[in-house]
Amino acid sequence: MSKFLRPHHGMCFQFYEGKGYSADFTDHMGRVIKELEADPAQKLLLKAETDIVCENCPNNNSGICSTREKVQRYDEAVLKACGLDEAGEISFARFIELVKDKIIDAGIRGDICGDCSWDYICRDKKSRYEEGDICC
Ligand code: SF4
Repeated sequence: MSKFLRPHHGMCFQFYEGKGYSADFTDHMGRVIKELEADPAQKLLLKAETDIVCENCPNNNSGICSTREKVQRYDEAVLKACGLDEAGEISFARFIELVKDKIIDAGIRGDICGDCSWDYICRDKKSRYEEGDICC
């Protein structure tokens, strides 16, 4: 069965360095990324809803993100930039590649999520997938 992923988390994965809303949240996010990277062909279902990353987030109020208007805007912009539809299935590797090519390398990340409180982490960094080490 495909895992749910909020599209904008495809950007967060590119710059993850173990920081986040709480220790529980960052530990969990680190585990999610590790599991996805261990099996890059696995399918994701892209939906603008709480997902596998949101599970331990203090902003997750019984399945509703307390910043939902903002993150939904990010989700919609990521889908648009990548030419993808919501509820579409895609492999983790292909999604990561599309986000890197169409958003990070295209220089539009800041236009999409420049008002995120974590923007300072991502602003001047290279994607963790810079070397193209994930294969479809
Ligand atoms: S802030 Fe919202 S979208 Fe981001 S991880 Fe937390 S619940 Fe999920």
